[in-house]
Amino acid sequence: MNLFDLTGKVAIVTGGNGGIGLGMAEGIASCGASIVIAGRNAEKAQSALQALGKLGVQARFIRADVTRKADCQALVSQTAEAFGRVDILVNNAGTSIRKMPQEFTEEEWHHVLDTNLTSAFLCSQAAYPAMKQAGGGKMINIGSMMSLFGAPFATPYAASKGGIVQMTRALATAWAGDNIQVNAVLPGWIDTELTQRAREQVNELHTHVERRTPVGRWGVPRDMSGVAAFLASSASDFVTGTAIPVDGGFSTAI
Ligand code: NDP
Repeated sequence: MNLFDLTGKVAIVTGGNGGIGLGMAEGIASCGASIVIAGRNAEKAQSALQALGKLGVQARFIRADVTRKADCQALVSQTAEAFGRVDILVNNAGTSIRKMPQEFTEEEWHHVLDTNLTSAFLCSQAAYPAMKQAGGGKMINIGSMMSLFGAPFATPYAASKGGIVQMTRALATAWAGDNIQVNAVLPGWIDTELTQRAREQVNELHTHVERRTPVGRWGVPRDMSGVAAFLASSASDFVTGTAIPVDGGFSTAI
């Protein structure tokens, strides 16, 4: 028995064209699943598709802006058309705007909430019928250390990532009877385009994270591959509604 075998399964990873999404897509692909990576930037997706191709699985890019309900629905229906099924959904697409709370416009607030939280709800809603029909499925939502902690520059981001944890619990209870497991992953500080911008904007962030993280380093996208393989596979069939930190110990240390 191989608890992690995903041969014949099909996974959608939003924002899988780079960063943490690609690290998670690689973990799921290494277990044998076909992968659809979704995002807005087709050019960036090309190198991601090459990386996934090297793992010997089928992979394709579907352009989608996940803040739009119609795009979320089209993403799922195009995946089902291309591969015949949808078994795994990773709601990873995300963004941040870093400012003090008093400086945010209403549009900026909605942009962050729509990209990080509403998108995950809309994609989950879109994927549910296909998973129910297939007799089960796996949904993986991406939270953050900001699901647990606050920061002065991250009000809408923290609200969206706290919301991810509670949405995960609610969906897990709603769809447990359909054999759909819904879990969240809370990455620590991971070296990606998103945090390269953060390091430019937040003074001394790089060294603060190194000092504050018990393992003494930033994470890399590949650090997210294992948890994705676990939560996408039958190894996690009795795990649902939880939020797993993958953070080098960040959330356990003062
Ligand atoms: P990146 O900026 O590298 O990746 C974000 C991805 O989201 C991109 O691939 C982007 O693709 C996609 N995306 C953004 N907006 C949209 C949209 N409207 N529609 C479709 N896709 C979209 O950042 P990370 O890899 O760091 O972040 C991935 C997730 O991990 C996010 O949810 C982030 O909040 C979370 N996270 C990151 C941490 C870190 O330290 N890096 C820590 C904790 C959580 P495209 O531009 O093509 O649309």
